[in-house]
Amino acid sequence: MSARILDGTRIAKEIREKLAPRVQTFAARHGRPPGLGIVLVGDDPGSEIYVRNKLRAAAEVGIRADLERLPATATLDETLRLIDRLNGSSAHDGVLVQSPLPAAMGEDAEQTVFDAIDPAKDVDGFHPVNVGRLVQKRDALVPGTPRGVIELIDHAGIVVAGARAVVIGRSDIVGKPVAMLLLHRNATVTICHSKTRDLAAVAAQADILVAAIGRAAFVTRGFVKPGATVIDVGITCVTDPAAARAIFPPGHPRLADFDKRGSVVVGDVHPEVAEVAGALTPVPGGVGPLTIAMLLTNTVKAAEARSA
Ligand code: NAP
Repeated sequence: MSARILDGTRIAKEIREKLAPRVQTFAARHGRPPGLGIVLVGDDPGSEIYVRNKLRAAAEVGIRADLERLPATATLDETLRLIDRLNGSSAHDGVLVQSPLPAAMGEDAEQTVFDAIDPAKDVDGFHPVNVGRLVQKRDALVPGTPRGVIELIDHAGIVVAGARAVVIGRSDIVGKPVAMLLLHRNATVTICHSKTRDLAAVAAQADILVAAIGRAAFVTRGFVKPGATVIDVGITCVTDPAAARAIFPPGHPRLADFDKRGSVVVGDVHPEVAEVAGALTPVPGGVGPLTIAMLLTNTVKAAEARSA
């Protein structure tokens, strides 16, 4: 058996195409497009790429996106002042701070900064008000990656109600909100983490398995019930040739990519899982594109709600 591959790039494109007329309607009614302020502190190369992709995707659907940069030496106070300005800006409906912040800003800086964003503009959905509203199944701005996971499952026509779902990973930005969304859809949800005993055996009970760990090809065949839906959230850039060769068999096209570029982006799910799973998201091209599409959706939602 070979798993059905769930094409996130195609679904994300459909979502953006549906969003564009909503953006136009908003712009016609309010004399300005929905606006997104993106705060980037420092020069982390991964963040540069993520931010560039967000700016490009926003422009494609007609959302105004402004990049607000601060140097790596910026203080927490300077960052908070910038957020304050964006909170008060009538042109910006959404505000997000690209993670990670420079380590020098301190361990708690990220949550302090997320807490400072106006909950009505919190398009990443990390503010405790939105987290609480999500837990209570009230209308909320929900983080893009978890929402993307649900979009992928829905587009594939996978029945969630009554299904046994296992989420590996319990972060605030992926694991916990994914688990909550699946619970709200009436799945029976188990959340696993690094201290879970017999992890493979627990995972293998899942009809829907979500891997959000950050360890390349960690989820192998033994973790997966035959026919299960497997959603791979993980993104790891593998640069070690031995590691790449341990994941992909000789002659695999991804290995050829590695040989050409010296690196390959890999998910948490081992490629061999495609022989067991019923449906599987690829990395890249699965959850990743949905994350940005849902961010744009949240920006339009915030704009509409603010001007209602
Ligand atoms: P995170 O905050 O580092 O959380 C990782 C989670 O995985 C933790 O709960 C950790 O358990 C668990 N874990 C780590 N090693 C484990 C093991 N050996 N067995 C079981 N559980 C283990 O990461 P995150 O922010 O949730 O991101 C997870 C992955 O998704 C990363 O690869 C990230 O790059 C990717 N990601 C992708 C997108 C996208 O758009 N596709 C968006 C966000 C994140 P403990 O809590 O016990 O430490």
